[in-house]
Amino acid sequence: MISYGRQWIDGKDIQAVEKVMRTDWLTQGPTIEKFEQSLAQVAGTKSAVAVSNGTAALHAACFAIGIGENDEVIVPTLTFAASANCVLYCGGTLKLCDINLKTLTIDISEVKKQITSKTKAIIAVDFAGHPTQWQELHSLARQHQLKLIDDAAHALGAKYKGKPVGTLADLTTFSFHPVKAITTAEGGAIVTNNQKLYERLKLFRNHGIRKENRKQKTENRNPAWYQEMVDLGYNYRLTDIQAALGLSQLTKLNRFLKRRQVIASRYIKAFSGIPEIILPPHHQWANHAWHIFPLQFRTLDRNDVYEKLREKGVGCQVHYTPIHLQPYYQNRFGYRQGDFPNAEKYYSRCLTIPLFPAMTNEVVKQVIKTIKAIVVV
Ligand SMILES: *Cc1c(COP(=O)(O)O)cnc(C)c1O
Repeated sequence: MISYGRQWIDGKDIQAVEKVMRTDWLTQGPTIEKFEQSLAQVAGTKSAVAVSNGTAALHAACFAIGIGENDEVIVPTLTFAASANCVLYCGGTLKLCDINLKTLTIDISEVKKQITSKTKAIIAVDFAGHPTQWQELHSLARQHQLKLIDDAAHALGAKYKGKPVGTLADLTTFSFHPVKAITTAEGGAIVTNNQKLYERLKLFRNHGIRKENRKQKTENRNPAWYQEMVDLGYNYRLTDIQAALGLSQLTKLNRFLKRRQVIASRYIKAFSGIPEIILPPHHQWANHAWHIFPLQFRTLDRNDVYEKLREKGVGCQVHYTPIHLQPYYQNRFGYRQGDFPNAEKYYSRCLTIPLFPAMTNEVVKQVIKTIKAIVVV
């Protein structure tokens, strides 16, 4: 079965991991910092903080900007559960929002309707690897003094009007799960240009413990062993073994992105003349990272197409069941079918077909042929 996405690990990756395993530092060593510096460079930011997964990155981001009780956070309903869960981890109030079908990202006019005096932040998701309409979000953020978090789990290496994803929000989070742009098995990171937020992220990753109290340091009263816990953090550390894999993978990011672009272009060419198929959005102003390639079918039954493709060895997936249709969110907050019509329309007809850099041209052709045989009658 061809999967919808998967990692690409080579001998160099394995060597890099092995090398670290023979050193004294399996975790919290020098490789983490090297990985963070490389990542910050790719994202165009001053700093990066590596954490144990993309969900931890979102949790840390919400902590860093101080989400708490009575703070409202606006999140698009079409996303993976973690983009919304992180608000609840911090005790914040979730305000789900519909998407724009032209980008599959949060709908700006719907965001405007959701803003109240309690709104503290917006978590935008660069869905499928396509950047959100950041310019519009920036002006809303300025106008209402909101913080912006970019859940860029899909969008490492993407650009919005020439600017790299990473520089578009106060905090940007990434995931290094095997289906994402690069992998560390499990892993994630937050990038930022803000020194204060950076320090809070580091604290949060390590139980809220810091090595030194600045005031006491200047008075020179702290012995070298001294550490203090000043906030409630977690153990969200990444290991040096994973960081070594991440560093090695990052050197291949551009190659991976180009290959994704080539495959996406082939799909676009193959399917653009077929009235039944709606292609995933792509615009001049966005450099797409093509994390996934979700098709929509105008009249065919999506589940039927899904079964037929699987029978022919083409694995597919649905990204995603909207948050407001998840049983937990329905039971807890009373969301129901009909609340966010655009996301529901997309959800009812979407299907993600295989796209990952290790796909050969032969496999791409096979996927196209199989889909055409089912869709064109
Ligand atoms: C993958 C993903 C996450 C979570 O990342 P993990 O590393 O799996 O915790 C968060 N948001 C989105 C949109 C994702 O696709």
